[in-house]
Amino acid sequence: MNKYINISKNFIKKRPKDITLKLDSEFIYIPLDESSKILFNPGKVLKKETIIAMNNDNVPLINPVSGVFLGIKEMPNFENKNIKTLVIKNNYKEETSKKIASKRNLSKYSKEVVLLIMQRLNIKTNNDKSLFREIDRNIRKIYINALCDEVNNYNNEFRLLHNKDLILETISALNTIFDLEESELLIKDTCTEVISVYKEYLGSFPNINLRLIKDVYPISRYEVLQRYLKLDSKDLVIDLEDIYRLGYALKRQRFVTEKLLTISGPVVIDPQIYELKIGTKLSEILDIKEIKEKYDIWINNYLEQNKLISNELIIDNNVNALIITDKNRNLVKPCNNCGICYNSCPIGLNPKKLDQKEVNEKCLKCGLCSYMCPCNILIHKKEGISL
Ligand code: SF4
Ligand code: SF4
Repeated sequence: MNKYINISKNFIKKRPKDITLKLDSEFIYIPLDESSKILFNPGKVLKKETIIAMNNDNVPLINPVSGVFLGIKEMPNFENKNIKTLVIKNNYKEETSKKIASKRNLSKYSKEVVLLIMQRLNIKTNNDKSLFREIDRNIRKIYINALCDEVNNYNNEFRLLHNKDLILETISALNTIFDLEESELLIKDTCTEVISVYKEYLGSFPNINLRLIKDVYPISRYEVLQRYLKLDSKDLVIDLEDIYRLGYALKRQRFVTEKLLTISGPVVIDPQIYELKIGTKLSEILDIKEIKEKYDIWINNYLEQNKLISNELIIDNNVNALIITDKNRNLVKPCNNCGICYNSCPIGLNPKKLDQKEVNEKCLKCGLCSYMCPCNILIHKKEGISL
């Protein structure tokens, strides 16, 4: 355990009070896959949840609002790259084409139908394989990853608290449908409210275990988790949000069109967690121009050092948090050869040798070496720093 950082000792957490709904975006931008075939012409009025495009793997793109399809526009994504998006102007009617009753018992679904929905939702396991291909091959156990390395991201905690019944029912149904021995829900041992709520309810779900994981960095990475839990080829790790998306599709027989976004960080007095339409433009919920003069804003995780550039960022399923920090935090000093980076790497690499191909290929890009460096050097990024 000496290669992990105890989070709770290093951070004072400021928790949002509750989820704030921001579902009234005027425009929605749906990121377009290169292989997608667009099914409508510009000018068409579309109902909410219409399949607006389909890619080569039969993964549909879903329109999250009712409104007019205006056409294609390039917009910045989570990697600050301009990508093609389909633009919908919201008519605020929220018209949907179907009204289907909720499914009472998810475990009554056939395996074939569940596999098809997993494929349509394009759900990946934590080691980036397609869930629908993996789960049907002699799997013994699934682990639901409700961990997150960014300490200021509260999405999983609020998802667990707000959607407890759906999450537990979905995991239990997967156990039954795919004949699994059991499942484990992985939760950080610092999430006290979630733990007490789930301990009370898990009595009704004997095939689901709650596993408390020490709140250490970088535990949510698949490679680190794999070592920590001693996972083998009969184990699968799936993100909590994907279990929610799958459960929602099975229960309501429709796709999730909203998502959670945490806006938080060490300098934020009043952290927020928003529920918004997938494809919302950041400037519709927050004016970041003033913030950027004094602070840095990071997409998803401060330690990944992916700095927000454009106010026009599209909040899709790849954007989960915006972390705001003081600009001084990045004051870099020359390397003092203390060796802390080497001693903290969870897989024993020498981060100062990341310019060597064989070392770089093994690197998890977890950022722990940079996180621990007393001189604030982004060793794993090597951004203009001479070591
Ligand atoms: S890069 Fe940072 S942690 Fe590594 S030896 Fe230099 S000062 Fe120490
Ligand atoms: S060298 Fe790579 S794997 Fe090791 S701590 Fe740094 S980023 Fe993580």
